[in-house]
Amino acid sequence: MRIVKCIHQLKSIIECLKDQNIKTGFVPTMGALHEGHLSLISESDNDHCYNIVSIFLNPLQFGKNEDLDKYPKPLERDIMLCQESRVNLLFLPDTKDIYKGKEDIYIVSESLAKLFCGITRPTHFRGVLTIVAKLLNIIEPDIAYFGEKDYQQAVLIKNMVRELNFKTVIKVCRTVREESGLALSSRNSYLIENERKMAQFIYRSFKHAEELIKNKSLNKTEHIIAEIKDYLQKKIDNIIVEYVDIVYDNTLERAEYPDKDIRILCAVKINQTRLIDNYKISI
Ligand code: AMP
Repeated sequence: MRIVKCIHQLKSIIECLKDQNIKTGFVPTMGALHEGHLSLISESDNDHCYNIVSIFLNPLQFGKNEDLDKYPKPLERDIMLCQESRVNLLFLPDTKDIYKGKEDIYIVSESLAKLFCGITRPTHFRGVLTIVAKLLNIIEPDIAYFGEKDYQQAVLIKNMVRELNFKTVIKVCRTVREESGLALSSRNSYLIENERKMAQFIYRSFKHAEELIKNKSLNKTEHIIAEIKDYLQKKIDNIIVEYVDIVYDNTLERAEYPDKDIRILCAVKINQTRLIDNYKISI
């Protein structure tokens, strides 16, 4: 596995790969790797790509009072995991190489980024889209892999790639969960034992809603949302439900009734830890 820290060096390697017509698969991450990240690398490997992973804790996507400083950074472990996962090239850029400090241009979504997570994190998706655009321009991968776990992010990235005519194909891969149903996340390490136990009720609330929908006990979205919120409040101590919504799977528009494939989107805070998750229900 090659470890590359500088954009200039990476670009010359990419040029060589292109000269040899080697297909590249790219997995951008912020590190603290877990099975969710590794599943994206496996997808790239299964697609017979030259596997490129980046680890970059992107300051631009964190708000002022968010967890940038305390975000876990187990770099040695991450390097080992990449090595074991058949990563061919690990890109570890320095913040100063990525941002010169005089940025004037950002990638902004005019509508979707303002909803759901964008309500409490108004500059978050600007940071995400800008770094993803930069990395796609530097690496020009044939395929880039993202997790369904961050569903709004994945839809925004697909929209950006389509609207701005990037060449890369975006693949969105399923969420990897613990046996309990809790979606894997680097931020789960903030949870203490009983918080972690309670966090599994996020997934269970989705299953509960699915049952209500499939039994036709509830058919108005508003009532299903209220039921999920109520379930979460009852099962999880010290929870703040930031949002629960039920949207059509591909447009992310509010579904009035669960009449087509829908997706539950949800963000909660358990004490200080913010967790997001989502779940598709096929009608
Ligand atoms: P992050 O390091 O949190 O920026 O995540 C890097 C990529 O891994 C993103 O595309 C995430 O959506 C994806 N990811 C994070 N958690 C999971 C998970 N539990 N299952 C699948 N993909 C995930």
